[in-house]
Amino acid sequence: ARYDIDGLKARLPGVRIEDNPALVRQKSRDFFWYSPRLKRELDGVTGDVVAVPASEAEVIEILKAAYALGIPVTPRGTGTGNYGQAMPLSGGIVLDLSRMNAVKEITPGKVVAEPGAILAKIDRQTRPHSGQEIRMHPSTYATASIGGFVAGGSGGVGSIRWGGLRDAGNVISLKVVTMEESPRVLTLAGDDIHKVSHAYGTNGIITEVAMALGPAYDWIDLLVGFADFGAAAAYANALGEQDGLLLKEVAVVAAPVPHDTFLRHQRFLPRDRHVVIVMVATHALDAMLAFTGRFRGAEIPFRQDALAPEDLRGLPPVYELAWNHTTLRALRADPAITYLQVLYPFPDQFALVERLHARFGADEVKAHLEFVRFDGKITCFGLPLVRFTTEDRLEEIMRIHEDMGAPIFNPHRYTLEEGGMKQTDAVQLAFKREADPRGLLNPGKMIAWDDPDYDYASGKTYLFPGLAARD
Ligand code: FAD
Repeated sequence: ARYDIDGLKARLPGVRIEDNPALVRQKSRDFFWYSPRLKRELDGVTGDVVAVPASEAEVIEILKAAYALGIPVTPRGTGTGNYGQAMPLSGGIVLDLSRMNAVKEITPGKVVAEPGAILAKIDRQTRPHSGQEIRMHPSTYATASIGGFVAGGSGGVGSIRWGGLRDAGNVISLKVVTMEESPRVLTLAGDDIHKVSHAYGTNGIITEVAMALGPAYDWIDLLVGFADFGAAAAYANALGEQDGLLLKEVAVVAAPVPHDTFLRHQRFLPRDRHVVIVMVATHALDAMLAFTGRFRGAEIPFRQDALAPEDLRGLPPVYELAWNHTTLRALRADPAITYLQVLYPFPDQFALVERLHARFGADEVKAHLEFVRFDGKITCFGLPLVRFTTEDRLEEIMRIHEDMGAPIFNPHRYTLEEGGMKQTDAVQLAFKREADPRGLLNPGKMIAWDDPDYDYASGKTYLFPGLAARD
């Protein structure tokens, strides 16, 4: 055996530990299979056991025992990440935090929760408590945990108003347990949050999250159709810029993807229509409709408030047509589809989107834009759908994007650096040296830890030696 699992169990008599291989394998996987490349690379990955702590005290016990025995620990919320973030590349312990799901405190503007709390369930407490809700959530709102969102996500529904998770003020503070002989519990606030936020659990286990809340509204779902893609994108951007309109979601999906893949909404959507997905607060609806009326060619084929309950039955909320749910629906309709994550930097977003889409043609790359507020400016982020042919062609498509001025956040890589800014995050690396000196937390995800001199410009894909050694 790779690790002394019997010794681990002996040290943790009170902790729930699962070793049924089918269950361990299931809890060792996430949505990595969105990427044909990650599917090939990671399909065989599995942990040795799943430990399911009920409290921070149990997290400390588990980390202490794992440290002593040299067993890797990979934290897991609910495993909805798309890049294999929660997959234990070196085996060992999958630390399933789903049982630590209490909402501990709700005050004006702030909720404090345990990491395993499901985002939608948090709102189910903050709404009746004081008419508040989480400012932003991934489209996996119904299933994702708050700890997994902070450690592995970036933003989503709500980012049109509040920006992303990394923007100041959205995450208030984090409690983190370190992986040392005697684990410490640290509270990080202000800029210190960046030590562990979006670090994939490579340098600490988050045991408590304090997150900012916004006012809760009844959000109305709408789909706005356009015959012209450029007109749809210009409308979406202009809508986002209306500071007085309370919006929660603005996205554009190019035809014929909405008709072909939003199957439950299909009857509303002509095949040749590009669709703008909108969520607007009830009290802002009239103003939003008036604003929309100024745009030539805008049609509203779907309005939640105008339909009878029996016509709405079975329809998902429109945010489950957006973000990576667009990708999911497209993938289900056609398994040859994969996707990219692209930033179209302000203020040239439209020119870039147009140039890139003209470059590839609508058969190979189909546009999906998510509008967000970055540093006070409305711009768009892309999750274009790509018809997959070969890994080489996929790499080439990404290279062309970057050469043309649109940075790629590569969703076909399991490392932090390659999926992010393609450079060492000195703050996260320094914190890992302090908080995980043996390098046991989620091994293989931080290149800088394994190879401080790695050349990100080499054009090569990083291959974690621990993963290669298993085959
Ligand atoms: P997991 O996948 O379990 O974990 C994510 C990462 O965090 C892993 O590296 C894990 O090791 C680490 N981690 C988990 N818990 C802890 C902890 N307590 N301490 C330290 N590290 C921890 N993401 C977005 O940001 N926006 C979106 O709109 C979005 N849409 C999506 C749509 C679909 C259909 C899918 C499949 C995914 C989408 N995602 C999106 C990705 C993912 O769903 C979210 O980021 C989600 O918040 C992750 O939460 P989780 O509980 O599933 O985390």
